[in-house]
Amino acid sequence: MVYLDYNATTPCLPEVVEEMKRWHTELFFNPSSIYSPSQEVKKVVEDARKKIAGFLDALPEEIIFTSGGTESANIALTGSAFAMKDKGNHIITSSIEHHAVLNTCKFLEKQFGFRVTYLPVDRYGIIDPEDVKKALTEKTILISIMAANNEIGTIEPIEEIGKIAKESGITFHCDGVQVAGKIPVSVKKLNVDFFSISAHKFYGPKGIGALYIRKGTRFKPIMHGGHQEKGLRPGTENVPGIIGMAKACEISKNLMAEDASREKILRDELENNLVEKIPEIQINGHPEKRLYNTLNLCVKYVEGESMLLHLDFEGICASSGSACTSGSLEPSHVLLALGIPPEVAHGSLRFSLGRANTMADIEKTCEVLPKIVENLRKMSPFWDKK
Ligand code: PLP
Repeated sequence: MVYLDYNATTPCLPEVVEEMKRWHTELFFNPSSIYSPSQEVKKVVEDARKKIAGFLDALPEEIIFTSGGTESANIALTGSAFAMKDKGNHIITSSIEHHAVLNTCKFLEKQFGFRVTYLPVDRYGIIDPEDVKKALTEKTILISIMAANNEIGTIEPIEEIGKIAKESGITFHCDGVQVAGKIPVSVKKLNVDFFSISAHKFYGPKGIGALYIRKGTRFKPIMHGGHQEKGLRPGTENVPGIIGMAKACEISKNLMAEDASREKILRDELENNLVEKIPEIQINGHPEKRLYNTLNLCVKYVEGESMLLHLDFEGICASSGSACTSGSLEPSHVLLALGIPPEVAHGSLRFSLGRANTMADIEKTCEVLPKIVENLRKMSPFWDKK
């Protein structure tokens, strides 16, 4: 099998699984209990918090554990919108955010009367910080912009947007799910108030993530229950997950530079080869300001889903930008926001590389995909009439 869908999820490293094991079995204790084995578990959770804080250049007390990127974004957006509704009701985000952010914004609009500005992007998917500035009103309480886009890999000017937010006194959430573990992050340098991460995107376990909340940020908990995570995110801690995420952070920190240079070589080879071998394809995302592992392309006159099925048949796992909703194929909102016509956006493919990929994987994909495209185009009435 050739796995080229690391932006969707990554395999949990054996070292991480190993580290997690005994916290499921012999050290299963609830960290909130009074007896000494529980106190040991509590200490290990706090050590993990320190490691994760270090990974993001934050303080341990600024980290809360969540179930992943979606929950972190929900807590940050809803929690700060609720806390600041006396100050205003306007939120700024972008049209290319992950649904974790977009659908939370829609929920706040529909259910609670917040007003949301969805900023446009340029043809590479870049958000102009000037547009953020222009969108600010007296009622703006929150900005949410992603660090890098999951479909096209474009990296956003977060530091500049953070500076604008800071100068204007507006809370700033950054969805950092696709950058954590891929590029070094300093939440201080980025000027963010909230930063969401998810362990399964960087070789950690699924169902665990973290939210950085800068000290002093106004925010109301959206879940109610026990005192865990200072009452900000109640519920018995996912101890094995927390320990696994800390281990994955440690390993990513050490391997990040090596991953980056190796995966970029492979990604560029894949890109150059496909461009050379397949006529009428276009590369999406920024040529340079792009995650080193991500390649998104549109193959004209062919459906993305058909290519994926054929790739799967050949043992290659990739994804398309489009989401299949109740039988109707919707083109990706990200590609449409770049100004790509729907009929072209339908032919999108995303390859996202990771640590286990080799040049043989790239060679196989470059051998297989051009043939698939050629065959599908033979059947396409649009290719015929071209
Ligand atoms: N944000 C981005 C940019 C993502 O790519 C993802 C996952 O695909 C999420 C948020 C959601 O993360 P999780 O799957 O941990 O809920």
